[in-house]
Amino acid sequence: FRVSLSRLDDERGGAPSCVLSFEDISHIQEAEQMRHDFVANVSHELRSPLTAISGFIETLQTAAQGDAVATKRFLDLMDLEAGRMARLIADLLSLSKLQSSERVAPTQAIDVQKVLAQVTSSLSGLAEQNKVNIEHNLCNNIPLVLGDGDELTQVFQNLIENAVKYSHQGTSVAIDFCPENAPHSHVCICIRDHGDGIEPAHIPRLTERFYRIDKGRSRSQGGTGLGLAIVKHILIRHRGWMKITSEVGEGSVFSVYLPIAEH
Ligand code: ADP
Repeated sequence: FRVSLSRLDDERGGAPSCVLSFEDISHIQEAEQMRHDFVANVSHELRSPLTAISGFIETLQTAAQGDAVATKRFLDLMDLEAGRMARLIADLLSLSKLQSSERVAPTQAIDVQKVLAQVTSSLSGLAEQNKVNIEHNLCNNIPLVLGDGDELTQVFQNLIENAVKYSHQGTSVAIDFCPENAPHSHVCICIRDHGDGIEPAHIPRLTERFYRIDKGRSRSQGGTGLGLAIVKHILIRHRGWMKITSEVGEGSVFSVYLPIAEH
């Protein structure tokens, strides 16, 4: 609480009085704490690849000098770390842009099926590498949705990429149109994986910036920890939402709800 005391003089010459006020400032402190945590997280996330790159440069200048094989290996590692930094910066910029444009809903009529086909084809290499099959179970009459094509591509790219990354080898990721789950005004697309699943306590926190269940696993898969936060903000702008259900040991379902264009 912020406590303040102010004096009120009586204009008619009477005795002055005092006003003692108590203001609840916990929301200001919370926002300040969040801003502080965010800056600390960003600094940490950027410092790790930078430290690695500095270490590789030092090795190249000393121990690995003249060793062509080692030089190639260190240059590849530096390339990987630089890629990690570039992804992190791109995700941070996306988030910042989205947060400043949340009030304006996008208005194009988008064919989600086309978006999903494009995203799945761009992820086919990763799916093959992780030995996961991406299965489309979409019918042809999915209504057009109101939105922005690039942003919806990013939503499905992040969710399907996660489903592939966190799936068990040899399983399938299924993409379904689930009309029975949606109100009449919205389309529902479900992305189901067969991975470790997610403990209930983690589910509400997954869309927080940099929240990861297993940091090491996320990093080794090239994750920035910002993918689901970006999804959340794009869906807010679209007047849509996401529901996450999961069973530990079985897998997870990420359902995306988007407003129908001709409604
Ligand atoms: P990351 O870059 O770490 O994947 P995200 O914001 O996309 O960041 O996801 C946040 C965290 O949510 C991940 O680190 C992972 O722990 C968890 N997660 C996301 N999708 C899945 C999934 N399909 N199955 C299990 N865990 C998941």
